[in-house]
Amino acid sequence: MDVACVHCRDYDLGRVRDSVERLLSSPFIAGRVQGREEVLLKVNCLNPHPPERGVTTHPALVRALCDALRERGAKVKVGDSAGGVRGKAHTAQALKASGLAQAALEAGAEVVNFDAQKAVPVTNLRKEGPDPLYLAASLRQGNLVINVPKLKTHLFTGLSAAVKNCYGGLPGAYKHQLHRDYPEVSEFSDVLVDVCLAVAPELCIMDAVWSMEGNGPAMGTLVNTGLLLATTDPFVMDMAACQVVRWPFDSVSTNRQARRRGLMDENQAILVWGDPLQGQNQRPFRRPLSMSLTHRIPGWLLAVAFDWLQPTVVVDDETCTGCGFCVDSCPAQAMSVKHGRATVHRDRCIACYCCVELCRQQSVDLKRRYWVRWQESYGGRTR
Ligand code: SF4
Ligand code: SF4
Repeated sequence: MDVACVHCRDYDLGRVRDSVERLLSSPFIAGRVQGREEVLLKVNCLNPHPPERGVTTHPALVRALCDALRERGAKVKVGDSAGGVRGKAHTAQALKASGLAQAALEAGAEVVNFDAQKAVPVTNLRKEGPDPLYLAASLRQGNLVINVPKLKTHLFTGLSAAVKNCYGGLPGAYKHQLHRDYPEVSEFSDVLVDVCLAVAPELCIMDAVWSMEGNGPAMGTLVNTGLLLATTDPFVMDMAACQVVRWPFDSVSTNRQARRRGLMDENQAILVWGDPLQGQNQRPFRRPLSMSLTHRIPGWLLAVAFDWLQPTVVVDDETCTGCGFCVDSCPAQAMSVKHGRATVHRDRCIACYCCVELCRQQSVDLKRRYWVRWQESYGGRTR
């Protein structure tokens, strides 16, 4: 079997516990979690957002996993590094606001702030990639690493599922540096594949109870897909994720790089244990605006108006507080704060969309260039 699938319609703790027990009892998963001394749950806690926003792995899943693993005799840790460059204080805020720290502590697990740890070098086997890669020490301390991603769309890569979630295994400032050093989506996606191979999670358990479509991983809208999935292979999990969101394999940049490197085969049939691998969503997920050009707009229109139709980042100066987090986190130094509000210097922007992902006020969004130019010409408020 490749993937264990259990339908779970909401985050009612009793229902999630039953679903987790079913997942962990599936024949190809059960042997991996029995009798392990230490387990690290590598969650997704991108930014300080409450669980109902659907940006982070849901605490009910983490609570149920901690309880189930502790009952099997393991000492459990829950950890991540949040996005941006503000280090351990920011990650601590994200772990708290998302409810993940509380869920872990109530279950008797340890909370691990990856940004408070020493980063350890790991050899990157790909010659052209960054070498070494620096991972949080907990990922290298003999723990069984279980990758616990949230299923979300992603402005830069297409989807954030098992492969992308491994990137949080790098400390904050180092994530930022790699964004700057590998700005193109194809080369950055290669780095994401490198990081996934370095983290090498032995198991992946994905929260797809409520998933995110549109401008994910932070500005999208939620879809009740009603699934929990488990597999031993993060690349297979991402193929399953494509099936759930009903997108072709090629829509996701990490899939394309992994296929090129012989790590994924889009023609591989996924063998499913448990419930059918089909979300409650009756239609394909809405794509992020950054991806929708080639999928929604006819080729002839794209050819004549590409520059005008390209999306670009804009700041809403009504809600921007001038906190400067986007300025610190922009790998291209393409943002600044003037008169207490953020401004984008579009000539320097490398379209990584970190600012959209990381603004806690949700003040940064994507708009098509023709809209921005029209607003700027006729006295609008975009920056
Ligand atoms: S856009 Fe967001 S992150 Fe940037 S300064 Fe404004 S509120 Fe802060
Ligand atoms: S302005 Fe935003 S999208 Fe552009 S490079 Fe900076 S963080 Fe990335």
